[in-house]
Amino acid sequence: MQNDIVAALDIGGTKIAGALVDGRGRILVRAQRATPSQEDGDTVMGAVQSVLGELSADSLWGDVRALGIGSAGPVDASKGTVSPVNVPGWRGFPLVERVRALTGGLPVTLIGDGAAITAAEHWQGAARGHDNALCMVVSTGVGGGLVLGGGLHAGPTGNAGHIGHISVDLDGDLCPCGGRGCVERIASGPNIARRALDDGWLPGPDGDASAAAVAVAARAGDPVARASFERAAQALAAGIAATATLVEIDIAVVGGGVAKAGEVLFTPLRKALDDYATLSFVQDLRVAPAVTGTDAGLIGAAAAVIAGAAASEAAVSG
Ligand SMILES: [Zn+2]
Repeated sequence: MQNDIVAALDIGGTKIAGALVDGRGRILVRAQRATPSQEDGDTVMGAVQSVLGELSADSLWGDVRALGIGSAGPVDASKGTVSPVNVPGWRGFPLVERVRALTGGLPVTLIGDGAAITAAEHWQGAARGHDNALCMVVSTGVGGGLVLGGGLHAGPTGNAGHIGHISVDLDGDLCPCGGRGCVERIASGPNIARRALDDGWLPGPDGDASAAAVAVAARAGDPVARASFERAAQALAAGIAATATLVEIDIAVVGGGVAKAGEVLFTPLRKALDDYATLSFVQDLRVAPAVTGTDAGLIGAAAAVIAGAAASEAAVSG
């Protein structure tokens, strides 16, 4: 696959991005539309079709061998369907079948957005060279994915590694997922901001009450703002330590908007990890910020196709 080109789609609640990507992970052609997220399913699909139309008008399209999709979840890779939380018109939507029909029967690989970002970080980012890694996105929600034994481990439906919805607080607050005390319920950006406000933190004159504003206050030494980030770091550390103990990862990569807080998050995160990752085989676990940026979804969707092709070639060649 080294010289071939793959097409990639990154489908989220705000935008639908597409690209043609070469075997070294370089983006050669791009197309993007806003997601008509509150419209009916066919209208949303129309935006996907428009992105694919723009990509397929490029002269490089003739070299495209396969297409990868990373989508906001939940996804069901085994059925080829997606049900993104923020796109209500798509519930069990047969995205793989529809994309295949629009692209003349190209092989299509679907993974969740957490798995896509993990594939991108493993191919080109902070998890490169690590055979066992957890990659997480901490922003409005908390998602993630796993690399195990040198390859992406997406699981049967494509959702493995969804660390945001494992419980780290048995009697904690109810989570929108139906669980209780989930990592996301404590560590997501909105929850960091909510906790700081509840505990008496006051936004500045601009009225910005986002997690990014809490991070600025924490950096300036505000004790309530710092405490909210420390609590988020504690939840992340408990989830990371549990994952490491279960499947023996040696690096946890953390990206997303909340990770942009930098040492306001990472310093208490490393400290909390010392409290939770205690057994000999997890003590050397490292935490690193993600390095792939806004293109991570596209690069990861392409990586999933290329890795999948490499695996099937290996299987054929024995
Ligand atoms: Zn949850």
